[in-house]
Amino acid sequence: MKLTIGHLYPDLLNLYGDRGNIMCIQKRLQWRGIEAEVIPYPSGSRIDFDSLDLILLGGGSDREQELVCRYLKQVASEFKRWVEQDGVLLAVCGGYQLLGNYYLTDKTKIEGLGILDIYTKWEPERLVSNIILDNPLFRYPVVGFENHGGRTYIGDYSPFGKVRYGHGNTGTSGYEGVIYKNVIATYLHGPLLPKNPEVCDTLLARALKKKYGEEVALQPLSDELEHMANQAITDRFQKNQPASSTSERRRRISKNGGRKRRQK
Ligand code: GLN
Repeated sequence: MKLTIGHLYPDLLNLYGDRGNIMCIQKRLQWRGIEAEVIPYPSGSRIDFDSLDLILLGGGSDREQELVCRYLKQVASEFKRWVEQDGVLLAVCGGYQLLGNYYLTDKTKIEGLGILDIYTKWEPERLVSNIILDNPLFRYPVVGFENHGGRTYIGDYSPFGKVRYGHGNTGTSGYEGVIYKNVIATYLHGPLLPKNPEVCDTLLARALKKKYGEEVALQPLSDELEHMANQAITDRFQKNQPASSTSERRRRISKNGGRKRRQK
């Protein structure tokens, strides 16, 4: 068995180690004896969507998103068709925003792919935090890091998770990301998949099912260290109030004499 993974525009969309997601996908396939071919598509290259079983669209600054937007426009209809035909996609932060109709920044309107009927609006206060989500699809809470100026309004789509700690899509909705068909779109950088092996395996299982037409049982791997790290993060943050806003956090920190808050 083999999966072909497309890494879209790694020269422009690769913030906070999003590429680690690719390495995780590759390793978790290889450890199970499944071949993994990764094809990077730098901006401007021609993408053969039909040859791809899984796509990663990473995050970027507003400037990089503006640059990438013109390349994405050229492939929008093909990309949309691929998603509608159950293509498996992980879109992170800037990549998530670009799946929507538009991203309105402080300077300009960046046209999105319109694959998801959602939109994003910039606000001056950035939402920066560790983040913990719950989703009954996963046994463990999903943990990660978010840093975005955009607020994403997802309408009736299913979220990727309910925010237990952190900000999420808008800072107030209580939800984070979107799951649509075989797409996971999320603000979680980090990289997401090495921290959350279950999320990685969900993508792999869906990609294998689509390619081979039937459920492929994924051989369990020892994820002991990952689970211990997950536990450490959830213990550390879940007892705190959600990080409601940067100013709120600053206020709490300055009340504390600028020292780091002690975790109880
Ligand atoms: N530029 C976008 C924002 O600030 C996305 C940033 C990112 O990918 N981290 O909202």
